Order: sequence, then structure tokens, then C-alpha cells
Amino acid sequence: MLNTALLEQALSGMPLRRAGDLAAIQHHIRAHRVRETLSPVAGVGDAGPRSAPAAPTSVHLQLFPDCKVGATDDAVRQQIDQLLRLRGVIGQALEKARQEKLIGNSLEARVTLKCDRKTLGSASKEELEEFFILSDLIIEDADEVSASVEKTPYAKCARCWRHRETVGQSTVHPDLCDRCVSVVTTK
Ligand SMILES: [Zn+2]
Repeated sequence: MLNTALLEQALSGMPLRRAGDLAAIQHHIRAHRVRETLSPVAGVGDAGPRSAPAAPTSVHLQLFPDCKVGATDDAVRQQIDQLLRLRGVIGQALEKARQEKLIGNSLEARVTLKCDRKTLGSASKEELEEFFILSDLIIEDADEVSASVEKTPYAKCARCWRHRETVGQSTVHPDLCDRCVSVVTTK
């Protein structure tokens, strides 16, 4: 269901904190993905839930709020558009690498993304790795957007399946990355 507090914050026109920005964007990406998934024709998102009458009892019949928020917050909308474009470029590079058997799945990839850093806003590398669902992202400043893929040299974390530099550094949990170590040790 919707995070109404987050939406209210996004709609308020107040400057959003960085974490809030990313959370808002991630929310919209998730809505975008769900719509794509539910659509009867792949890639034709509008043919799905939008054409159905809204009903609170089924996710298949619910509408998503992305247009409403996007129309009232240009900065967030522009960053969503930009990140979606970059995600598309990365997705094409990953698909090519998969077809060439360079990688088995996207979490085995080290992606070098070239783009104008300003278009990434205030999102950190870690936040972008989560946003693009990647293990290993390198960002280089460039005028032209492009993405290249190689196999990451890092080991796979047994918990989150990301290949991360910190896997093996913990003596207590040598099969986990630093983030997962912190999660399991604070439980
Ligand atoms: Zn992990």
C-alpha cells in the first residue's frame, strides 16, 4: 500500500532530505515495476491496471499515484525520468553481457556507468547500487551516457547475494558482506 506520509512530503513542495528523495523515487520505481509486471502485454504498462476500475480489494484494480506526484514536484519527476533512462541503458548492457555469457545474472556484474554526475542528484553510490539492483557500480563523469559490464571480482554474499568487496572480512561471518554482518549482529 502507499506510504502516505512520504507522498505528502513529496507533494508538499518542501525541500526533501536526501534519503526521502530516494525513498520517493524508489516508491515510484516499484509502482512502475508492479504495473509492468501486472500488464497483460509486456512493456505496455498503461494497458493494465489503469484501464480497470479502481477497487480497494484487489491490487490488480488499483491505480498508481506516480502522475499526481510527478506533476507537482518537477525535481523529483526529473530525477525519476533520468534514473529510469539510466536504468534502461544499464539493462541493455546487462542483457548483452548475459547473452555473451560474460555474467549469469546482474548481481555478478561490475557496471561502469558513464554519465553527467549532476543528473544523479545527491544519491550516493550505495543508494544507486540498491536502486539499480547491482552489486558493483562504478560511476564516471562523461557527456554521453553509456554503460559497460564486466564480471565483478568480489565474492558473493550468502545472505543478500550481492558480490561485494567486504565479503570475507568478518571472522565471525566470513560468508557475509559488511551490511549483512551488521544486520545479523544487531538482531
Ligand atoms: Zn550481504
